[in-house]
This record gives sequence, structure tokens and C-alpha cells, in this order.
Amino acid sequence: MDRTLKACRTLRATTASVIRSGIHPAVLNPIVCAKIIRQVCYPKALYGCEIWGKLSKTETLMLERTHHYVCKFIQGLPRRTRTDMCLSLIGWLNLDSFINERKLLFFGRICNLPQRAISFRILVRKLFELKYFNQEYTNCASDFSKDCVDILYKYHLSDYLTKFMDSGNFPSQRIWKRIVHRSIFEYELNEWQQRINIDSDFNIFKKIHKVFQPHPAWTVALDFPYLRKQANYIVSLCCLVHNTNSDSILCDKCGKLFTDPCIHAISSCDYLSDIRDEFWCELLCLNPITFSAFLGSLNDEDFCYILLSCETEFELDCEQKKRFQFLCVKYVYRFCKTFSHS
Ligand SMILES: [Zn+2]
Repeated sequence: MDRTLKACRTLRATTASVIRSGIHPAVLNPIVCAKIIRQVCYPKALYGCEIWGKLSKTETLMLERTHHYVCKFIQGLPRRTRTDMCLSLIGWLNLDSFINERKLLFFGRICNLPQRAISFRILVRKLFELKYFNQEYTNCASDFSKDCVDILYKYHLSDYLTKFMDSGNFPSQRIWKRIVHRSIFEYELNEWQQRINIDSDFNIFKKIHKVFQPHPAWTVALDFPYLRKQANYIVSLCCLVHNTNSDSILCDKCGKLFTDPCIHAISSCDYLSDIRDEFWCELLCLNPITFSAFLGSLNDEDFCYILLSCETEFELDCEQKKRFQFLCVKYVYRFCKTFSHS
């Protein structure tokens, strides 16, 4: 427990000191921020986590809380935002999978050692003991080999273990790294999709953010740093839980009834028709013309969700897509800010 507490404190402290040194989300793009923090603070806080053994539920919770705090902070999102939203918007997996990946890579490194190496021989001996005298070791929580076997089963990698014990063959470190990375990502992605599919808070979010990678608004802000504030705004909008069952509200600017202010501001408020005309002019300049026709054929809700996601299923080439994402980030901010500030 002390070890985990220390890791949490180190993670918070190093992140705070890195941020104080100028790598702040208000100054740098969250993707860059995330990369620096991931490469500097996490290895320091989780040094030696390969041999930590199986973590208790309390320890895992403590670590995950710290991880979520860091994740929300670097994106400038409120602390009460749902974790599954925040993590997927920057493309981070949970901390448990990060630790498991380190453990599996360490396991792979030992399996690739020459046969005379002492750690290789200890591991093989332990694995055989586990295989043939399983009962004796089931309560040993800090046993590295037992922990690794459990993790291998968890991520459906047990075939590699069986093959290793039968023939002594194990993938090289480079290939193993790729296999582990892919398996963990697929497993976590599946879990994430299941979680958001059963929770009604994510009804709208799952229509907006379908892929587990940084939100396109952050990528746009990498190319156009002056749009960082706008990107942050659009990402925060994606995290808002839209209450679709609420009663209609009367707009004091145009006199129409609406249920969702964001959809109303973007699609139907007459007060913002000048901005809307400007936006459509820019969309029409974006070739091919069938794309504008496609956008025009959508209903108000779907149109709004496409703008918030900055993604479209319509086939566009790279430059056109970038231009479309740029327009989304720029105009969603203008629509909503003008609507709420006037
Ligand atoms: Zn209105």
C-alpha cells in the first residue's frame, strides 16, 4: 500500500512540477503535453512496477484516480467529467493496462534471455511449478510469474506461453512489443465500448466520438496553435451530457422552441444566420460539391454531431478533411460563444 501511495504522490508531484516549468495546457497543445508527461512523469512514478505483483482493488483505484486527474488536467476539462470520455478524447488507456504492458514486456525480455541466464532459469522453473502444482501458488499475490500468467490469460495471450513451455520458442522483443500493444489495445477498446454502450450518459457521446484516439480538434490545434482555445471548447462540448428528454425552451433571441442549445445555435437559431451563411459559404468552397449536399441533407441533430466530432464518413482527401476539421473547430466556437454571450 505504501508503495502505491508513494507512486501516486510522485505522479502528482512530477506532473505539477512539469506543468509549473511551462508545459501547461494553456500554453501547449494537450497532445504534446500528454506525450511529455507520459514520457517523463509516468516512468518515474511507476519505476519498477513490473515486479509489483498483483495490485489490490484499493491500490488500483488510487492509481487510476491519480491517472484520471492528470488526464483531465492536461485537457483542461472539469474534474467531474466522466473518465471514459476524458481518456478516449486524448487516446489514453487506463493505468492498469499501462502497468500490465510493462509487466508483459519484462516477461518477454526474460523469455528472450539465453538459457544459462539465472533469471531465465528461475522463470522457467516457476512456470513449470505453476503448471503442475497450481494449488500451492494460488494465494501468493506477489509472485511475478503467477501475475504474468494471469495477465497473459486476461489479454488472450496464453498461446504464446503454452508454445514457450512446449518448445522454448518466444517472439523476439520487437515483435512481442507489437503483439502486447495490439492485444491490450483491443481488449481495452472492447471494454470501453461495452461500458459506454450500457450507460445512458454516453448516449450522445458515443455518436460523437467513435474511435479511441485524440479528438480531431486537438490535431487541428497542432497545425493551428491559435485555435487551441476553440479546440478546448469543442472538446468540452463533447463531454456535456445532453439531456434529450428535457422540456422545450423558448429562445429569447429568435422566438423558436428548442431542447438542446448547442443544436439550436448551430442549426436553427435565426439570430446567428449571418454566421451560418458565412459558414456555409466556406463549406461550399470545400470541394467536392457533393459533400456540401450531403451535409445539407442531414437533420439538425446529425449535422451538429458531425461538427462536434470533426469527422465525417464522407470520403474526402487529406487536405479537404483538414480544411473541414478546421472549419468545424472555428465555427462551432463562434456559434456557441455568440449564442451564449449575446
Ligand atoms: Zn434562437
